Parts: sequence; structure tokens; C-alpha cells
Amino acid sequence: MTRVVVIGAGATGLFTALDLTMRGVEITLVERGDLGSGTSGKFHGMLHSGARYAVNDPQAAKECVQESKIMAEIAPHAVEDTGGLFVALNEQESAFGDRLMKGLESVGAERRELKPSEVLREEPHLNPSLTRAIWVHDRVVRGYDLLTSVALTAFKNGAKILTFTEVKGFTEKGVKVKDLASGQSYELTADHVVNAAGPWTFKLAELAGEKEVEVMPTAGTMAVFNGRVVNAVINRMRPPSDGDILVPYGEVTISGTTAKVIDDPDQVEADEEEVELLRRESSSLVPILEGRKIVRTYASVRPLVKQPGSDGRSATRDFVIRSSYRITSVVGGKLTTSRLVGEKAADVVASNLGVRGESRTSVTPLMSPEDGVELISKSLGEEMRWLVNSRKGGVDEERYSVVFPFALSMALRRASREG
Ligand SMILES: Cc1cc2nc3c(=O)[nH]c(=O)nc-3n(C[C@H](O)[C@H](O)[C@H](O)COP(=O)(O)OP(=O)(O)OC[C@H]3O[C@@H](n4cnc5c(N)ncnc54)[C@H](O)[C@@H]3O)c2cc1C
Repeated sequence: MTRVVVIGAGATGLFTALDLTMRGVEITLVERGDLGSGTSGKFHGMLHSGARYAVNDPQAAKECVQESKIMAEIAPHAVEDTGGLFVALNEQESAFGDRLMKGLESVGAERRELKPSEVLREEPHLNPSLTRAIWVHDRVVRGYDLLTSVALTAFKNGAKILTFTEVKGFTEKGVKVKDLASGQSYELTADHVVNAAGPWTFKLAELAGEKEVEVMPTAGTMAVFNGRVVNAVINRMRPPSDGDILVPYGEVTISGTTAKVIDDPDQVEADEEEVELLRRESSSLVPILEGRKIVRTYASVRPLVKQPGSDGRSATRDFVIRSSYRITSVVGGKLTTSRLVGEKAADVVASNLGVRGESRTSVTPLMSPEDGVELISKSLGEEMRWLVNSRKGGVDEERYSVVFPFALSMALRRASREG
């Protein structure tokens, strides 16, 4: 068997690991935190229809059109089909709607012009002076549910998932890692290494002595408002800009985001001025947000592809894959397109290593975290299974459903270490 180490349990690393393990490659995935402890666990929660990028970034938009449908099919338990709206608040924004409609048509995205009165019936909290509205097929994706599903499916196909295990260096034969829980350091041998460390990809490339990998770490702040004040994802009808999207996520509404290029992805926190900007922009779309409590804020870093002359807004949301004989590095994409990025990375690795077989991730349903209940009881004990199951049917069932992914992540780590 060919052995490959994948670095990073974000959406990109997990889908790459799943794809390769389904082609018969022996995979060990190493992640210094928990599943999704990087950007994939701190994103905006949106499964992009492609509409947001249809005017300025058509290749990324086409990928979103294709991948949002696939993700909704393979992981229905992690996706909520809310739909999305582009909303104009003045004549200039209404005029942008013409470019948007053309862009949506050219990338093949679903679209429908709606009357403001129709929209206000469905979304009573929207600013009543809206001047134009276009329906698009945005959805909401629960990040942690998706990531644990990909990890479980990869594990069931033979991959080892070693969370809380940090790559500290590269050796002739593989990587040097440290188990952060036990403090133990050891070497993992591999025929090839996939560097899917998101905004940290350039740091791993430096560690490996590889030539520079072109990442532009771009931070974004999000503000979580109390209450679900909209039913669909609401986008401002203008080119991508700060504070232009509201996402209904469970019982809250997430406002975002901003885009600031930074040097160090380990030094990022929600910026107070940006939070104020998010409140201003959000309340012009939904006036009741002006006085609404912000329950928390968070920030994370996009691993954007660095291109001459581009900034955090104009940089493409497409991806690149760089490969040498021993390392393949993956940069860019969106959580929405992570399955496709994983497929393309796996194609490159498979062709480097002479592994035959094609990607099947677009047609393979992912297991849901609840399908992992047996694994949970096997590796964490019967008591854990009782605990997880005892939350069903109670007043807090939805809130405690999160126990499942946590227990599963722990079970995967334990089973992978023992196996
Ligand atoms: C503010 C913001 C909002 C966003 N909103 C959306 C959205 O709504 N919809 C959407 O589709 N996309 C969104 N994105 C983009 C999307 O979140 C990212 O493109 C995607 O999550 C990147 O996934 P990744 O796996 O490449 O990186 P990550 O998720 O960051 O994964 C990389 C992993 O590598 C690990 N790692 C780093 N160094 C080491 C090491 N030495 N050893 C072991 N492990 C290591 C990290 O801990 C991390 O878990 C958003 C991004 C940002 C910043």
C-alpha cells in the first residue's frame, strides 16, 4: 500500500484524505487541534450558491454552483436549504442587480427576480425601503457536523485521524510529529505528504524547505446576533464588501464579514471597529439589529491564493495545487468547494504515486455523526453511548446534538491511535 500523510483536518485536508483513502491509499491525517479547529470551524456558515462571486470571480462561482448541489446531496444532515436573497437599498445597488443577473446567467446559477412586497411577506424584518430583490440558491451548512461526517467516512474507509498531533518537521522519510496530549514525539513515514494546513500552508512549506507557497492570509471578523431574524441568507446587492451577508444559523444570525491581509494566522482576533461596522451594515439591511444584542464575536483567516496586485477582496476564491516529488500543497477554495479541492489534490497525488482509480466523493453519501454511535461506545465505553443517547427526546435535544460530533471526534482519535 502507498502511504500518505495529510496535514490539517480542515475541510480541505479531510476531503483529500477521504478521496485518497477511497482510492486504496493508506492515509494518516494529522491535525494539531480538533477537527475544524482552523478556519473551517470558524467560517460564516454559508454553502455558497456561487451568486456572491458571479460578477467578479466567475471560475470560483461556477465551482460553487456545482459543489453546493453536491454537498447538499452527500451531506443532507449538515445542510439547511434556506435559499438566499440579494437585496438592494438604493438605485445604485439596484443597477448592480443587472450585472448580477447577467453574471448569474453566465455561471449557470439559479436566480429569480422578486417583487419587494413578496420578499417582505417572507422576510418581515428586512428594511421596508428595499428597491430590488433577487432570489438565489444559497444554503446554510453546519461546519462541525460536516467535518465530523467526512472524518467518520474516511475512518470507515481505512484512514487514521490523529487530532491534537502537530507536525514539527519533515524528515527524509516523512514527518516528525508531537502528540500534544501525551507530549510524545515520533516519526510518521510516508511516500508522500499533503500540506493542507489552510492559512498555515506557507509555514509548513517553510518547515519542509520547499519553495514559497503563495498564500495570502486574510482575516475576517464575524458578529453573532441574538435570535434568528431572517429566514434566508441575505446578501447586499453590490460587489463583495465588508458586512454584506447575514446568515440564519440555528437560533442566531451571523453577520459578516471583513477582509484584512495579515502576516501571521496565529495572531487574529475579532476587531472592535469591524464589529461596529458589521452592526451598522447589518442594521441597514435589517433595522431591528441596531438594538439587538451581539452575543459573541469571532474571527478566522482565509487561505487565499496570493496574486500580484490583488487584495483581500479582489483575490480569487479559486484554488491552486503545487506539487513536488514528496509534497503536494493545496491553497485556496471555499468550504463550499472543499470536496472539489480534495478531489483535484487527490488526482495530483495519485498521478505522482502511480495510484489508479478515480474520485468517488461526489457520489458517495457521507455518514452522519450519529452513524458513529457504535464507534463511540467501542472506543470510549458504553457509558459514553448512554450519555450521548440520553439527550434524545429532551427539551434541549437540539443543543445537545452537538455532543455527538464531540464524542465522535474523541472516539476517532482514540481508535486511530490504537489501530
Ligand atoms: C471569515 C471567514 C468566513 C468564511 N465564510 C465562508 C462561508 O460562509 N462559506 C464558505 O464556503 N467558505 C467560507 N470561508 C472560507 C472557508 O472557511 C475556507 O476556505 C476553508 O475553511 C479553508 O479550509 P482549509 O481546510 O483549507 O483550512 P483550515 O480549516 O484552516 O484547516 C487547516 C488545518 O491545518 C491545521 N494545522 C496548521 N498547522 C499544523 C501543523 N503544524 N500540524 C498539524 N496541523 C496543522 C490547523 O489547525 C487547521 O485545522 C470563510 C473564511 C473566512 C476567513
